[in-house]
Amino acid sequence: MARRKKIYEGKAKTLYEGPEPGTIVQYFKDDATAFNAEKRDVIEGKGVLNNLLSEYFMLGLGQIGVPTHFLKRLNMREQLVRSCEIVPLEVIVRNYAAGSMSKRLGIDEGTQLPRPIVEYCYKDDALGDPLVTEEHIAAFGWASQQDMDDILSLALRVNDFMSGVMLAVGIRLVDFKIEIGRVYDGDFQRLVVADEISPDSCRLWDIETGQKLDKDVFRRDLGSLTDAYSEVARRLGVMPNNPPAPSKPTLVN
Ligand code: UDP
Repeated sequence: MARRKKIYEGKAKTLYEGPEPGTIVQYFKDDATAFNAEKRDVIEGKGVLNNLLSEYFMLGLGQIGVPTHFLKRLNMREQLVRSCEIVPLEVIVRNYAAGSMSKRLGIDEGTQLPRPIVEYCYKDDALGDPLVTEEHIAAFGWASQQDMDDILSLALRVNDFMSGVMLAVGIRLVDFKIEIGRVYDGDFQRLVVADEISPDSCRLWDIETGQKLDKDVFRRDLGSLTDAYSEVARRLGVMPNNPPAPSKPTLVN
C-alpha cells in the first residue's frame, strides 16, 4: 500500500491525507505532553482510548445537531474527519474553577461558577497560548463577529451535552477546550467542532470522590493516566475489548 502523506504532526495526533479530497485521517498517538510540552511521556493505550472517546462524543454531538468534523472511525487509532481550516483559538468553557483560572483569579479549585464562562486563547505554542479577548480576535481578524456568535453558541451546546453525558455516569465536567474548524460547501462557510474531545482536553472529576479522571493525573503525577481514561471509557460503555457480559446461569434439569 502506498505510504500516506503526512500533513502535520502535533503533540498527541498525526494528520495524514485522507482517501478522498477534503478528508483527513487523524492518528491518535500515545504521547502525553503538558506545560507546553516541557513535561512529556508515552502512555501506552492513551491514543486508543482518546480515539474511541472522541468518536463517542463527536457522534453524540452530531445526533443532537451540533456539527462536527467527524466522519467515521477507521480503526483503534485512526478516524476519518473532514478537512477544515482551524480557527486559531482554543475555546475553553468552565463550569467550576480550576487550573489557570483558579491561579489567575485566586478562586479555589472546585468552586462552582455562577454560570458557564467561555474564554478564548490564541493558539500559538511559542507564546504559550495566551488568553485573548473578543477585541483581539476582531482586531486581528482571527474570526468575524458572526463567527464569534456561532462559536459561543457551539461551545455552550457542547458544554450542555458533555455535562449531561458525564453527569449520567457520575462525573463532573469541570471545564474543557474545543477547537473550531471552517468547512466550505461551495461558497458557503460553516463552523464545526474539530480536533478532538477527550480526557486530554477536559477536566473530569468523579462526583462522589472528587478523583481526577483527566490529563491532570499526568500533569500533577496523580497515578496512572491509562487507568483514569479507562475508567471514563468503561463508565460510558466504550471500553475497547469490552469483556463479554457474564452468561446467564442456565437451568440444569
Ligand atoms: N486545555 C487543553 N489544551 C490547552 C490548554 C487547556 O486541552 O492547550 C484544557 C484543559 O485540559 C482544561 C481546560 O482546557 O480542561 C482549561 O485549561 P486551563 O486554562 O485551566 O489550563 P491548564 O491549567 O491546563 O494549564
